[in-house]
Formats: sequence, structure tokens, C-alpha cells
Amino acid sequence: MKTTMLSLDDALKEYFGFDSFKGNQKDVMQSVLDGHDTFVIMPTGGGKSLCYQLPALIQEGTAIVISPLIALMKNQVDSIRSFGSNDNIAHFLNSSLNKTEITQVKLDVTNGHTKMLYLAPESLNKQENLDFLKSVKISFVAVDEAHCISEWGHDFRPEYRRIKEMIKGIDKTIPVMALTATATPKVQSDIQKNLAMVDAKVYKASFNRPNLFYEVRPKIDAVKQLIRYIKENSGKSGIIYCLSRKKVEEIAETLQVNGIKALPYHAGFDAGTRSRNQDMFLMEDVDVIVATIAFGMGIDKPDVRFVVHYDIPKSLEGYYQETGRAGRDGGEGRCIAFYDYKDVEKLEKFMHGKPVAEQEVGRQLLDEVVSYAETAVSRRKFLLNYFGESWDEVNGEGANMDDNSVNPKQKVDFINEMKVLFNAVDTVKERFKAKHIINVLIGNNTSEVSTYRHNQSEIFGIGKETDPKLWMAAIRQAIVNGFLYKDIETYGLLKITDKGREFMKNPPESFIVYKDHDYITQLKDADDVVLNSKSGGAAMDEVLLKQLKELRKKISKQKNVPPFVVFQDPSLQDMANQYPITIDELKNIQGVGSGKAIKYGKPFIELISNYVEENEIERPQDMVVKSVVNKSGTKVYIIQGIDRKIPLNDIAKTKGMEFDDLLSELEHIVDSGTRLNIDYYINEEIDEDKQEEVHDYFMEAETADIDEALEELGIDDYTSEELRLLRIKFMSEVAN
Ligand code: ADP
Ligand code: MG
Repeated sequence: MKTTMLSLDDALKEYFGFDSFKGNQKDVMQSVLDGHDTFVIMPTGGGKSLCYQLPALIQEGTAIVISPLIALMKNQVDSIRSFGSNDNIAHFLNSSLNKTEITQVKLDVTNGHTKMLYLAPESLNKQENLDFLKSVKISFVAVDEAHCISEWGHDFRPEYRRIKEMIKGIDKTIPVMALTATATPKVQSDIQKNLAMVDAKVYKASFNRPNLFYEVRPKIDAVKQLIRYIKENSGKSGIIYCLSRKKVEEIAETLQVNGIKALPYHAGFDAGTRSRNQDMFLMEDVDVIVATIAFGMGIDKPDVRFVVHYDIPKSLEGYYQETGRAGRDGGEGRCIAFYDYKDVEKLEKFMHGKPVAEQEVGRQLLDEVVSYAETAVSRRKFLLNYFGESWDEVNGEGANMDDNSVNPKQKVDFINEMKVLFNAVDTVKERFKAKHIINVLIGNNTSEVSTYRHNQSEIFGIGKETDPKLWMAAIRQAIVNGFLYKDIETYGLLKITDKGREFMKNPPESFIVYKDHDYITQLKDADDVVLNSKSGGAAMDEVLLKQLKELRKKISKQKNVPPFVVFQDPSLQDMANQYPITIDELKNIQGVGSGKAIKYGKPFIELISNYVEENEIERPQDMVVKSVVNKSGTKVYIIQGIDRKIPLNDIAKTKGMEFDDLLSELEHIVDSGTRLNIDYYINEEIDEDKQEEVHDYFMEAETADIDEALEELGIDDYTSEELRLLRIKFMSEVAN
């Protein structure tokens, strides 16, 4: 490439085909072209990459781009290459390359063909790479995701802290550009200090995302709330974030059995599965991705319509980045976080093993999350203030786009409770945790309370008129306001701060706290929810069940298949309990997958619909949620393994199961309405004649019982394993 300098405007059009710069992109670019250290703070989706890509393209030499993730690098490089220039215009240099590839990359850089060289900080640490970089012309260094430098960021990576040293070793005069989407003032100053760019030109875009709606919901019946929300928004794309891999698999599976097209994503899956699931989400083959925070960096799907935090996030920076993936196209973007203080306590427990300094950081970040969850002010205002921006909740862009603005929380004056609380903490000599103090206040004589003789204290039961939940809220408010703190070294004993002591000496007139919206009562009032419990089937409608069984017999004759192929008994019982009257509702019945619902469902919902009308039955209004019996995520693994035609014994081995147990899992999957195609395995293992014979047998059989089949077909000719496999095939093909 020739290095005659195009103007920025021309280059924008020529290389990227864009007509105008976004926000302050152009100023940023000019700054680095002028040789200044430059600090770019822009929200996710703001267009940071272009800020270094364009100057790199038009300058002489190669720009070094430092980026934390190998996978991310590859995406970025692919995306630059896709803009039509030569492939050698951008390269990455990391441990995934072989010797030949590395030689080629170095050659391209030396010859001046390569304008951008992506490196992980680890690669920058290698002497041979440093020597090489010293020998070529470097235009500037861009440090992307620069918050990784800061311990105060949510994504701290120690190796990031050595970047400056390395750069200095190459050439002291090259300008550095740092870019990040997390900009609390703390992180910001950390980055500047560590990169020794305190005098850098700082370009900070507003973090406001006016089209996003923020909402925090109490985590009560969260799965049900989640399914309800997704169903009400069917066809829209969304991301559900969970903290653990186990939760990810569990929720994904629950969504799947409830008829939602969802896939899991976390770092525990192999690379192939991850990229397949990610692609399916991007291509809209699935609507919902359930993921740990490993998902999303560098993913640019413009029309994600909702981001749900099923578990409370560990920091507001992380939260803001993750919610930032909603509504990038400027359209609808709903951000829902489920909040339960218990989750916070769990996170605190996880921190215990870590070094104290790290715990301290973790706890402070978490405290901010709690304040956010419990605040009564506009969520947008809270978040923007957190990022050091002021915002006017009346006239600001995005006003009235959060739950607190739309539906203000009820205030209560808690001044008396505060006094009682601080006095209690003081009386027990600051040696107890929140739970114990509440027990004392409400007069709950636990063994711990009596061990310490707090049941004889004058404060025992003094607060029994107050709802214990409110006491917990009061404690959290006191912590958030800096009156109390949880001591880290002693695993969370409540202590009074100086500010708290001051409060005790000179209490203010009033102390306002806000009550949580009480969703449970609201739901009950709103649509008269009948919670559907799967237990026992006590409420089963026997008359209807009988009619359903007759119908099944009729249909089975018509279609010439055995009755159990149409619906198995538990399915009919569930119908007699739930009264489904649409195909969609039917899919939520136990043992009914969508194949079965479509194949056999119509006459059944017609019958139920008539029955409901004639008998004026009030159907349960609430959504029927299917639960997953085996929550281990094993099923997801098995289904995916079969999709990829992995031999069944290998699947069993990987999962550490006996083959027998695997068969039971398969039976369970098939009996709950999902189709499995295991022909690839059966065709290897069982003769065609046998396959046919068993098929014919089940077509005629009264029941799907294996022992009976074994007797009928001959114990000498078949193993029960074979019959089970063939039954799985049969049920998949004929019933589901
Ligand atoms: P960030 O790294 O800040 O999260 P990206 O660099 O990934 O954001 O850019 C987000 C999206 O905006 C990308 O699809 C990019 O192509 C697009 N984009 C960036 N600059 C412009 C521009 N000037 N005009 C139009 N689209 C742009
Ligand atoms: Mg980026």
C-alpha cells in the first residue's frame, strides 16, 4: 500500500464506506495522528475500533493493537479484512499460530504491508517479539479494553499492567491510545497512571443510552417471570446472563422444555460448540442465548431486544457493558435484573478465599450494585452518576425509561428503626452478623441467641412489630449510606462507622427508605394467579380425563398406532389439570414436544376447549411452566452430542455414566416429547430385520413396556438394551 495520507473523511469512505463519523471519532483520530497520547472513553457500540483502525490505515508503519482475548482478535482481524483490502493488512500474533504463519506475519509487517498487528499482552512480554518490534516502524500503540489494567475494573488482567514497560522498551516516543467502555473515575485514573499518560487528551462520549429501559425485579419465581417475559416477546432476540455455568445450563434447558428456542453458552463448552451456539444466535436460529459473562465481548448483533441478568452482577461496570448489548440499533432494549440480597451474600462468600485487598475491591463494587438495586432514584441517573456524568431526570434524553421513574417506590420514614438498629449493634458489641441482630430484634430465640443470652437483653423482641424483611432493608440502607459496615476480616460482623456514631449522637429528623415493589401481591391482584404445582395431580379433572382417554383410543385406531404413541398417561393427566386449549399451551404439557402437539394435538385441544366452555371451567390463568427433572445439564449435552452423531458409548463415557443410565436419560428425553435421531448408532449395532420386527411389534402393542416386549419377541433373540434403543427410535419417529 502507498502511504500518501488520505484525509480522514476520504479514508472513512474509501476503507469503510461510512459517510460520517460517529460522535467524536474524528477528533480522537486527529489527536493520535498529531502524535498525542489519547484516551478514548466510549460506551459499548460507540465505535471505538474505528478510532485506531482508520489512523492505522492511513499512516506509515504498523500500529500495534493490544487486545485481551485471542478470539476477539480473530474477529477484529476478520472484520477489517472483510472491508475488502488485502488480507495482510491486519494480522494477529499469538500462541495459536505455527512457525510458518509467524514468519509470514513478520514478513508482511517488515515489508510495510501490515497496518495493524494485534497482540495479547502476553505476546508483548516475549523478548523475541520485542526484538522484532524494535526493528520495524510502529505508528502507534492502541490498548483496547484498557479497563483490564485496573483492579477497579470488572475484568482485571494483571498482564495488562506491564504494557507500558514493554512499549517503552520498543520506542519511548510512540503515541499510545487507550480505549475503554468502562469509565468510573477510579478506573479512568488507574488507566492513565498505569500507562503513564496522565497528560493524554481525553475524549469521553456520553454513556447515556436513551433507548434502553432499566428495571430491577425482586427475584421471586424468577424462572416463571423469565418465561412469561420471553413468551410475551416471542420472536425477539435476547441474552440471559447467569453467574455460574451450572445455572446457565439449567436455565437454558428449562427454557427449551418450555418451548423457547434457547441455547447455552459458557467457557466450559468446547470451542466448536461455543461458536456454533453463538452463530445460531447471530443467525436467529435461536432467539435466546443463556450465558455467563464469557458471552458477548466483541459480539455485534444490533437487534438484541432484551438483556436479563438472572443473577445479580458483580459490578456495575460489568452490568453496564452487558446491558449495553441491547438495542445497539437504537431500537427497543429492555434491561431486566433479578435481585435477591441472598445472591449478594453468596458472592461475598465466594470472595472469602481471596487476598484481602482483592476482597475489599470486590466488596465495594458489590456494594455499588446493591445500592443500584435498592435505589429509588431513576436507574439511568444512578448509572450515569456512577460513571461520572450528570444527567437531568426531567429533560435528559431517556427520561422515564426505568422502573423507578415509571412506578415510583413507596417511601417510609425509618428514623426510629435506625435508632433501634444502631443501638442493637452497639449493645451486642459489634460482634454479630446481620441475621443474628435481626433475630434478636424480632425476638426469635434461636440457639445462637440463647447461647449469647441475648434473649435476656433489653433489646430482645424490641422490633417485633416490624417485618423482618424491612429490618434487612434497613441494615442494607445503613450500609449503603455508610453508617454500618461489614467487617471483611471477621466474615461480615456488623460494625458502626464514625458516621454511624455521629448519627447516634445527633440523629436527624427523618431517615427515608424505600419499600420494594411487592411483585407477589401485584401479580396476585393483577391476574388472579393460580400457581401451578406439579405435585400429585390432586386437582385433576377425572371426568375430562376419561373423555381424553376415549379420544386417545379413537385417534389411535384412526391413525393405526398404539395409544401410548399418541399421548402417554401422564400427559393426559396433566391436560386434565391444566386445560390447554391452544397448540402452544399444549406444548407445555408434560411429555408433549412440538412435534407431538402438531401431529396429535388438535382434536384434544378441541375437546378440552368445548369441555371448558360447557362446564364453565375457570382455567388456570397462569402460565404453565414445565420443570426440568434432571437439572444437571446432562441432557443438553446428550442432545447436542447426538446432533453431532457422537457414538452413544462415547457420550456415556464422557459423562461418566453407565450405558444403562444413558439409555434412561434418552428414554426420559423422548418420553418428554423431544425427538432424538439415533439411527447413526442403531444402524451400526442392530440388523435391519430386527429393527423392522421391533417396529412392527410396537405398532401393535398395548403398552410400551420393555419386559413385555422382551417376552413377546423372545429373550433369546433380543437383549433388553436393543429393545430399549429401538423403542427410543420408535417413539421419536412415531410419537414425537
Ligand atoms: P465498540 O468497540 O466501541 O463497542 P465497535 O468499534 O465494535 O464499538 O463499533 C460498533 C459498530 O459501529 C460497528 O458495527 C461499527 O462498524 C459501527 N461504526 C463505527 N463507526 C461508525 C461510523 N462512523 N459510521 C457507521 N458505523 C460505524
Ligand atoms: Mg470494542
